[in-house]
Amino acid sequence: MPIKVAKTSGFCYGVRRAMELALAATHKHRSQRVYTWGPLVHNRQAVDLLQARNIVPAETVDVIRNGVVLIRAHGVAPGVRRELEKHAEEVIDATCPHVARAQQIASEYASRGYAIIIIGDKGHPEVTGILGCVPDGRGFVVETPEEVSQLPRNLEKVCVVAQTTQSGERFEPIAKNIKSIYPEAKIFNTVCGATSARQTEIKELARDVDAMIVIGGYHSANTRRLAEISRQYGVPTFHIETAEELEFNKISRYHTIGVTAGASTPHWVIRNVIERLREFEEMRRSTVVRFIHSVLRFFIYTQLYLALGAGSVAFAVQCLLRLPLNARLSMLSAFYVLCIHTLNRFLSLPQDESLLYGMQKYFARQKRLMRFMWVFSGILAVGVSLLLGLASLILVSVSLFLGALYSLAIIPRGWLPGVRYRRLMDIPGSKDLFMAIGWAVVGVVIPFVANRAITPIPAFLMSILIVLILVLVRSMIYNIRDIEGDIIIGRETIPILIGRRWTERIVLVLLGMLTVVLIVGWATGIFPVLSLLLLITVGYIILTAYYKWQTEFYQGLAYDAMIDGQFILIGVIAILWRFVLE
Ligand code: SF4
Repeated sequence: MPIKVAKTSGFCYGVRRAMELALAATHKHRSQRVYTWGPLVHNRQAVDLLQARNIVPAETVDVIRNGVVLIRAHGVAPGVRRELEKHAEEVIDATCPHVARAQQIASEYASRGYAIIIIGDKGHPEVTGILGCVPDGRGFVVETPEEVSQLPRNLEKVCVVAQTTQSGERFEPIAKNIKSIYPEAKIFNTVCGATSARQTEIKELARDVDAMIVIGGYHSANTRRLAEISRQYGVPTFHIETAEELEFNKISRYHTIGVTAGASTPHWVIRNVIERLREFEEMRRSTVVRFIHSVLRFFIYTQLYLALGAGSVAFAVQCLLRLPLNARLSMLSAFYVLCIHTLNRFLSLPQDESLLYGMQKYFARQKRLMRFMWVFSGILAVGVSLLLGLASLILVSVSLFLGALYSLAIIPRGWLPGVRYRRLMDIPGSKDLFMAIGWAVVGVVIPFVANRAITPIPAFLMSILIVLILVLVRSMIYNIRDIEGDIIIGRETIPILIGRRWTERIVLVLLGMLTVVLIVGWATGIFPVLSLLLLITVGYIILTAYYKWQTEFYQGLAYDAMIDGQFILIGVIAILWRFVLE
């Protein structure tokens, strides 16, 4: 069952911006509720999660008295805005700039004596907001080309705007009819780019699929429009709000499935749907294939695959430092990484089940096994470090202790109310940095300590840099993927702090630095020719990251395997160099 996911699915710019402004307001007003004038997004799950973060929809001004209120992306009429300003202590305006433009055109032309015709859905909050910019009796809403004939004939000056989420197919014939009756009409197509991009994509997708799944709130205008377009193209279309609504019997009869989602559908909801479709796909496979798949899933999701990668990196570092090979060093890295990553994943599981997907879902279902794994691998890491000497034992014990401390509250709840970060893991980006330092300690510092007499300092320092960059880049790629879920649950990662585009740039800069270190290391003789061969890994990381950023959505087990495959690739290259080429 091939699944084709529309690249434009999910939060649009306006909704994402409103969401970020709401969450920023909760940080600013820690002890207060932040009200949104109506639900922030047309998605039940997202609204529930926001409620848990003290962001609550309000329907009457009495509720918001002396509080903080946010105007959502749909905007409001000027009269409503004045009311809000009168009652609330602070009003945050998250009106989408595209909606604000339609409002501005309407009020400007209305003030010049024009009648305003809005092509849109009667009663939709955005349309109501635009209508509120026009004096009574001079604003009209039309939904169909036929309704144009019901407009008063005596309108002298006419200005036309559109609800931003209308489809081009609807807008054009209505605008044409208006023009035929009022030839001097000023027509502004205010349908937003995000909406038209989604609609264009669904038309293309509809040609390639046997059935379409459109995800989004039943009250979401743009989601309903997407479903409508898909049906117009003759494709069996299922409009759903959550993955639970998908039925195997109904879906399994189709071969290729298209997936798209409205502008207010969070990515994690889309991911859950894709994951469920993959489960359906698996149900149709033979027992042997299902068995192989479950073994691979176990290997990857339990972090054994990543642990193998850590062991590979430790092996490659020994080769780069020209050290005598010591299997214990690789084992130490593998056990340490297994312990720390399992523990960390375990402690950072989102409370809300709907946010769980892929590896997280596996962790949540296999809590006992994962608990056993981190305890057992921690004991093994300490045991192996003991064999490597006292210095290694101290370093590993301190790293494991810091790893455990990382998620505990250093400043207890109730103390120092103004302090924002109570645990080390609350500090933005700290997880990525701590992880990278942990890898560097077991992968480079301990091999250096064990072979101090024969390891040159420049090679040691450059190896640390290599490992730090590799682990940081991996974390950032994952953080970019998880950005929406992290925003909602309040986890502050680097992409949330500085934005996705800047994080992507940092990833590229780090990879550029890695390339320079590897080339300089070889050119100066600090590293053997293996250093040059490792450039293959840089190319591999760029390809996997680029693939991810292009496809946008969760690609399942294969993608997790691809990302962490960089470490295995390093090990394979190092083995080839050491045992075949050297
Ligand atoms: S669909 Fe367009 S107009 Fe509406 S909030 Fe999103 S970006 Fe803004």
